[in-house]
This record gives sequence, structure tokens and C-alpha cells, in this order.
Amino acid sequence: IAWAVRFGVLLPILIVQLLLSFQSFYPKVEAMFSTVSVCCGAGTLVLLMKISHSPLVIHYHGMLLVLIVYGNVMTRVRFWHSFAWTAVVLLAYFFNIGGTVVPDSVGDYYLGLITIACLVGLLANYQIEYQSRLDFLHTLLLNSEKERLEKMGNELYKVAVIDSLTGLYNRRHFDESLATAWRDAYATRNPISLLFVDVDCFKRFNDTYGHQRGDQCLKVVADTLGRIERRPSDVVARYGGEEFVIILPGMAELKATDFAESVRNDIERLRIPHRASTVMDCVTVSIGVATITPGPNCKPNMIVREADTALYQAKEEGRNRVCLANKSQH
Ligand code: GH3
Ligand code: MG
Ligand code: MG
Repeated sequence: IAWAVRFGVLLPILIVQLLLSFQSFYPKVEAMFSTVSVCCGAGTLVLLMKISHSPLVIHYHGMLLVLIVYGNVMTRVRFWHSFAWTAVVLLAYFFNIGGTVVPDSVGDYYLGLITIACLVGLLANYQIEYQSRLDFLHTLLLNSEKERLEKMGNELYKVAVIDSLTGLYNRRHFDESLATAWRDAYATRNPISLLFVDVDCFKRFNDTYGHQRGDQCLKVVADTLGRIERRPSDVVARYGGEEFVIILPGMAELKATDFAESVRNDIERLRIPHRASTVMDCVTVSIGVATITPGPNCKPNMIVREADTALYQAKEEGRNRVCLANKSQH
């Protein structure tokens, strides 16, 4: 009977349990099967102790102790499930040990030992479950904290580089982008162009329509500049006040001048009323264009200065126009 139970019941259960432990797809099924196999194992031992006439049956107690500790500690069974099967095993032993070949005194001794094993096993099971729940919560907390920090980082980045009124890049980002574009242009010996865009007679616009309408006007102009079809490397930024800048890496002066002309035209075509303008009855811009092929002795602020000078010239010549800075090869 013992061999039949071992090979017919226990062995197949252990094999299935082993196979299940390799697949972690069904943790619930695995846990349920662990409970079943531990119960079957314990039931088999109790049954064999009950029916056997051999005094050697006493050694099954050791196996029972190992099984109780194993079932509580090694399997991923929840505490209350563990509590249930441990109680069943303890009761099964308690009600069946009497009247067996095991002497009463030994039976009582092992009953005490098995009870202690049950308590220790359950305590360990509880602590393991508590710790894994705590770990799970910590992971959740860490993930949400990570998400929050990432979001905060993005917002900080926006605050650092985006102009709050127009949504374009700010002066700081412009300075950094120009330095990078300058370095690239120097390394590749390519030209770099810069457009300085300034709204004409904007002080008069504010004086006539008020600062709020002035802000709205700046937003519309900035939106238009931001939507102009351009290459990914080009950077449009608000330089300050009613002045905007466009960096055009790798663009030669003729193309840059054409581009500036199309920008000027786009703003004029917006037809934002400006009755106080000395140029037209709508908002216009003047644009200074500078193109430089960076050499070893020149710095990014040179192109800014040249574009600014060209802008000044455009203003002098009557506004609403594009002026190219004197050709420079540094
Ligand atoms: P010009 O054609 O020579 O460029 O004349 P302008 O009046 O445009 O130039 P000026 O430098 O004399 O005046 C610029 C005005 O832009 C003055 C300032 O009140 C206004 N301004 C600067 N920043 C802002 C802003 O953020 N909002 C508003 N509403 N106005 C601004
Ligand atoms: Mg200005
Ligand atoms: Mg102006």
C-alpha cells in the first residue's frame, strides 16, 4: 500500500508540481496545487502511520515536520490558505495518531513538535507575505514617484527654455542653440544664417490698442513664426520684447534672404490692424539677415551683432523690409 501510495499518488503530484514551478504563468494555479500536494503528502504520511505495523513508521514524523515547514515557507501560498491546510494536517495527525504502532508518549512528543513546526511555519509564511506586500507597495510608490519626478522635470525644462507669453523658445535656449549650431558650422565649414525679426512701431501699437492687445498681437506673430515651414535644425525664439530670432544652420545668404522675405510677407498677410503705424495700416516686421561661415577667431555674438545692424538698417530704410548684413567671411 505504501509503495502504491508513493508511486501512484505522491510521485505524479510532485512531478506536476515541479513542472508548474518552471512556468510562472499561472501563479494562482501553482499555489493551489502546492496546497493540494502538501495536503496529499501529509495525508499519505498520516495514513501510512495509521495502517503500518512497523515500529520504523516513527521516522515518518521527521518527514511530516519537513513537509509542514516546506509547505509554509517554500510555496507561494497565501497566509490564510496556509493556515487552513496546516490546521487540517495538524487535526488529521491529532485524530489519527491514537491507536497506532507509535507509543502514546512518542505520539504526544511529536504532537508538540508538529504543533511548534506549524506555528513557526505559519509565522514565517506571514512574514514572507507581509514583506512581499510591502515590497509591492514600495515598487508602486517608487514608480509613481518616478513618474511625478519625470513630469516635474519636463515642466522645469519647459519653464527653463520656453517663453511663457508666446510659447516659442526663450532667449536662453536661443543662446545655447546658437552656440551649438555655431560649433557644428565651424566643424563642417558650413555657413549659418540668423534672422532678426522686429515688429514695426510696436510702441505705437501698445499706445493705441493697449498692452493686452499688444500681447495678443505678439502671440499671433509668434504663432506664425513658429508655424513657418522649416527644417528640424532651425530654431525660432523670442529674443525679447517684440523681437524674434530665427537660426538657420547651413543656409547661405541668398536662401536666407528669400526665407526672410517670405516671413515678412506672412506677417503682413495676417492683416492685424495697426492704424498708428507709420508703414501701413497693419502690423509689419523688419528683418535683419546675417550669414557667416564661422572661422577660428569669431564668436556667435558676431552674427547677432551683424543681424542687429542689418535690422537697424531695415528700420532706417523705412521698415517692413529685409536687409542683408554686409557680406562677412570670418
Ligand atoms: P521700431 O519700429 O523702431 O521697432 O519701433 P518700436 O515701437 O517697435 O520699438 P521700440 O523699441 O521703441 O518699442 C518696443 C515696444 O515693445 C516697447 C514695449 O512697450 C513693447 N513691448 C515689449 N515687450 C512687450 C510685451 O511683452 N508685451 C507688450 N504688449 N508690449 C511689449
Ligand atoms: Mg525692438
Ligand atoms: Mg519694434
